[in-house]
Amino acid sequence: MRGQSFLDDVNNQFDDAARFVPMQEGLAEKIKVCNATYVTRFGVRLRDRMETFLGWRAVHSTHWTPAKGGIRYSVLVDQEEVEALAALMTYKCALMGLPFGGSKGGLRIDPAKWERQELERITRRFTQELARHNFFGPSQNVPAPDMGTNETTMVWMADEYRRRSPNDINALACVTGKPLAAGGIEGRIEATGRGVQYALREFFRHQSDLERTGLSPSLAGKRLIIQGLGNVGYHAAKFLSEQDGCRVVGVIERDGAVWSDAGLPIEDLKLHLTKTGGVKGFADVEFVDNSASVLERECDVLIPAAIERVIHSGNAPGLRAKLVVEAANGPTTFEADKILNDRGIIVLPDLYVNAGGVVVSYFEWVKNLTHIPFGLMERRHHEASHQILARSLEAMTGATFPLETASLFLEGAREIDLVRSGLDDIMRSAYAQIRTVWNSAAGIPDLRTSAYSIAIRRCGDAYSAIGI
Ligand code: NAD
Repeated sequence: MRGQSFLDDVNNQFDDAARFVPMQEGLAEKIKVCNATYVTRFGVRLRDRMETFLGWRAVHSTHWTPAKGGIRYSVLVDQEEVEALAALMTYKCALMGLPFGGSKGGLRIDPAKWERQELERITRRFTQELARHNFFGPSQNVPAPDMGTNETTMVWMADEYRRRSPNDINALACVTGKPLAAGGIEGRIEATGRGVQYALREFFRHQSDLERTGLSPSLAGKRLIIQGLGNVGYHAAKFLSEQDGCRVVGVIERDGAVWSDAGLPIEDLKLHLTKTGGVKGFADVEFVDNSASVLERECDVLIPAAIERVIHSGNAPGLRAKLVVEAANGPTTFEADKILNDRGIIVLPDLYVNAGGVVVSYFEWVKNLTHIPFGLMERRHHEASHQILARSLEAMTGATFPLETASLFLEGAREIDLVRSGLDDIMRSAYAQIRTVWNSAAGIPDLRTSAYSIAIRRCGDAYSAIGI
């Protein structure tokens, strides 16, 4: 039913899109293949015995450096998965116009099995291995959190690198997704979920695109099903329900799914999940044991935000969502994508939808390299000039600035305002390009092929410019 691998899905999609991009003979193959994958087996003495761990760091492309991409801790991770994710990072960065190559790392481990101090020792050893082999560093390869890792993991990595390179003034830029107190940036934790919100808002701004789904114009009242209430899924669910009036009717997790036609209270549900490790036992809602079946329930928007290949040829014919928004990486197999396309179900592709994380990581990396928080030099200056403008307008009109707009208008932008504004801008411009290509006369069948074709063209242009 599931057929080929995640890497095959990505490569098949690449081949499909490359047909629309005129390029020098053989260049598409160069862009497609993974440049290098470092495999490490390292030992750590834990609980009075030597434990051996298996990890990977794939560098798909270095047409821009550093190569950028998360590190995943999971018992299921393998080399092919890491290479598929690294390829997606190359295309994602190219699509969003970020000056990075693509990379991804994985460590085969169940993080829940180890104490915090043990995880720290394992992470530090993994970092040493990567750094020793030039698969780590602010100008070479910059990881970020992914499934099973978080900002604490990133702090351990940054600290380990800094100890090894005490003379590198840019050492903090060796990873992104750090906590604020350790060189991070406002808004990084929420960034991917925030990007999902901005992607959906942008799609809804384009009436003719929206008409293809059969959805009515406003996001308010739309019924969402979200798979995975982790970092990405939780933030997307929270923002879309609190700020856009969406109703999250279904949440699918590992231990089952919960359903409420009235809409699920996301904060309470997340609290329950954090406390108990699952959604089972959450009061006053329907619990569904067969969680995967909920993917096929009727809704307006389905947001897979957990793992790859959950929409496959077995369930794609039964999906009843009008729009699929891919917050996870690779949630739809190549075959399923064709089925959805034939059925007229529009898919907003992962390449675009979940790019918010790497966009804000880019801001963090730049902040670390410039050694100054965004907005520090301008904020009070803008505040002062806005005050002068406001007082002059009041003097000329005799009216007073309304209190609620005054505070919004008069204050200079804080770092979080600038991060959100930068993210929103990049999400909007990327969608404008994707839809232009999609709606062009080239005969591009869907948004994913359009996004890939833009990325491939940009990679090709970069390789051609540097003479490869
Ligand atoms: P996470 O570990 O924080 O959350 C994943 C959630 O999915 C967890 O709540 C987990 O219990 C749930 N889950 C796992 N397997 C499941 C299954 N089979 N069925 C239902 N639920 C399941 O991970 P995350 O950081 O939120 O990442 C989720 C997805 O988003 C991944 O595909 C990741 O590659 C992608 N992504 C993450 C980021 C980021 O900034 N964190 C950026 C881009 C893409």
